[in-house]
Amino acid sequence: MKRHHKVLIVGGGPAGSAAARTLAGQGMDTALIDKADFPRDKLCGGLLTQRSRNIYSRIFTDSWKPVVDYTARGVKFFHQGKLLNEVENASELFFTRRMAFDQFLLQQAVTAGTTPYLGDALVDLDIHGKTCQLRSGTKISFDFLIGADGVNSLVAKSLFGRAFEPGTVAFALELEVERAGTLEAVRDPEIHFGLARWGYGWVFPKRDTLTVGIGGLHARNPELKQVFEDFLVTRFGRLPEGRIKGHHLPFGDYRKVPGRGGILLCGDAAGLVEPITGEGIAFAMLSGLYAAEAILEAAPRGREALPGYQNRYRQITRDFDHANRLRWLLFPSASERLFLKALPRSTTLPLKHLELMADQIQYSDYWRHLMFRAVKSLARRALFIK
Ligand SMILES: Cc1cc2nc3c(=O)[nH]c(=O)nc-3n(C[C@H](O)[C@H](O)[C@H](O)COP(=O)(O)OP(=O)(O)OC[C@H]3O[C@@H](n4cnc5c(N)ncnc54)[C@H](O)[C@@H]3O)c2cc1C
Repeated sequence: MKRHHKVLIVGGGPAGSAAARTLAGQGMDTALIDKADFPRDKLCGGLLTQRSRNIYSRIFTDSWKPVVDYTARGVKFFHQGKLLNEVENASELFFTRRMAFDQFLLQQAVTAGTTPYLGDALVDLDIHGKTCQLRSGTKISFDFLIGADGVNSLVAKSLFGRAFEPGTVAFALELEVERAGTLEAVRDPEIHFGLARWGYGWVFPKRDTLTVGIGGLHARNPELKQVFEDFLVTRFGRLPEGRIKGHHLPFGDYRKVPGRGGILLCGDAAGLVEPITGEGIAFAMLSGLYAAEAILEAAPRGREALPGYQNRYRQITRDFDHANRLRWLLFPSASERLFLKALPRSTTLPLKHLELMADQIQYSDYWRHLMFRAVKSLARRALFIK
């Protein structure tokens, strides 16, 4: 069976659904394929920031309240089990279950007119012939293609020979812990430093469970599973029941050129995960929106979509460049020690980071704030040494 769609999107996560909702909402002939039947799960902490909320409401019309499982206004920061600092009454942090969230986004894309091909994987892509084949044998031709097929993207592999660079990708492990089996009531999310190298651990509260995880640069954390199990035992007094699951995630190493001609990469497929926090949902949705806008602009003029996408994409990657520089103040062991010394004394450091995630300050402001602190601390040390 052979079909044709003006725009074909591979992947029904936040990136693919955001693109599909935007395109179909403008009357563009749009189809979306996903290897999974929905609802499907995706390993994720499910943290949605205010930034996510702002981006979500630029694209989708329904209130996201039905798929927000838990809301918090504070964060606790730990180092090797010891509470270092906590923020209370900050801007809201939302927690969702990806099973429900992704289904909710996809449903809105379908309601807007997207043709879904679910439970059928892309297995072959002919970039020059602009055709692809699904596992079922269905062949689809297209004018534009959006690769929103996650970190193991077949579209990215077809374009560039590899989905991601093994040396710069991160790996994360998670376990869903039933609240009923834990002794204390966890109200606020927890961030745990000193567990993973170039990464951290987390306990994210949901209504009935706690999503506990650890993640860091894959190449620097060969013992991650053991470290995670030790963390779980320390945190809960025993190894909680359930299966520990793992998944790669991009971590700062985004695609400098996110596609070719009429083929665009979005979300994890383009490497768009924030290099410090690991936040990816917001940037997946935003890049999906940008890819759709670039296609809507290029299609009537018979042009390639990549230049228009790259202009918009740079707005995301400019911030990632700031964050990539900031990582050198946080993650290498020497600067991590300084950061961990500063954190308990600082009222502004964690608050500023939350303001950044809430879109209330820009990365450039945050960078200036940290540099100012670093210079102040060095000057103080120099005076002390003299
Ligand atoms: C452990 C972990 C915790 C995380 N926690 C957070 C968090 O708390 N907050 C946050 O913002 N981000 C978090 N992230 C990052 C976030 O999950 C991703 O950035 C986000 O899911 C990217 O969305 P996406 O649409 O690009 O890709 P995905 O959500 O991965 O969706 C890709 C889709 O493509 C489909 N697909 C793949 N291959 C094919 C194929 N060949 N054919 C058809 N379909 C295909 C898949 O089935 C999937 O539905 C976390 C990531 C990990 C691994």
